[in-house]
Amino acid sequence: MSFVTRFAPSPTGLLHLGHAFSALTAHAAAVREGGRFLLRIEDIDQTRCRPEYEAAIYKDLAWLGLEWEPPVRRQSDHFGDFARTLDALRDKGVVYRCFLTRREIAEAAMSAPHKDDSSVIYRGPAQHMSTDEQEARIARGESYAWRLSMSCSQDLLGEEFARLVFEERNIGPNGEHGVIRACPETLGDAVIARKDTPTSYHLSVTHDDAHQFVSHVIRGVDLFESTHLHVMLQRLMGWPTPVYYHHALVTGPDGKRYAKREKSLTLAALRAEGVTATDIRTRLGFP
Ligand code: GLU
Repeated sequence: MSFVTRFAPSPTGLLHLGHAFSALTAHAAAVREGGRFLLRIEDIDQTRCRPEYEAAIYKDLAWLGLEWEPPVRRQSDHFGDFARTLDALRDKGVVYRCFLTRREIAEAAMSAPHKDDSSVIYRGPAQHMSTDEQEARIARGESYAWRLSMSCSQDLLGEEFARLVFEERNIGPNGEHGVIRACPETLGDAVIARKDTPTSYHLSVTHDDAHQFVSHVIRGVDLFESTHLHVMLQRLMGWPTPVYYHHALVTGPDGKRYAKREKSLTLAALRAEGVTATDIRTRLGFP
């Protein structure tokens, strides 16, 4: 199997030390394995992504000394592919329109257990909405999201559902390592697309990893839980499941992870202060 990995930032802000660590980790693995290192711009959220941040990504990565294989894949160029994937999932009967507002979802989730305060888990409707009602709501201009139905996916996959697995080469947030059973049900019915955007992070990341033949996904441990869902999507679509390596997040002196809002710690700000790319690499443990 040829080794293909990628760094997949979203151009919603400037890259910081955490991104640098992720990119350097993936790049070093590709070099070590004699494999390919790809760069993918995950810009499906057209309200938050900006061209100047995309330009800054190229500048910062080149400054760090990284080389990626052209062409760069920009997700906003592929909405048609994502729409076709959504159609395929609809044909399989595993997605449905959900007209609930954020508040209604939060209220529905309040009574049910959820994983942590930041992620509201929606377990799905007691009953699916009739086509007539959906059409009436669409005609009234109501907004909706496409959700992936856990119960319909489970029915469709049958016994395979209980056999969904992925390989974690590093370590998950609860010490997970090795071959792990995927438990997508813990995430509930996730949003897979929206009324005006035929995709979501989950759909486009799995689509692109499959279409770019990514064999090893190297990314932050904050995305570990999503992997459970990604494995199910891969199975539904007949896509291969890559090997996963979720790295620890880089934390600041206060023990908190870096966030895009911490402007002083962006690579651009550090460079402007006179910090060199070698300093960054050394600080992050790379030769
Ligand atoms: N675009 C995602 C982010 O910036 C990363 C996606 C991934 O590596 O799977 O957090």
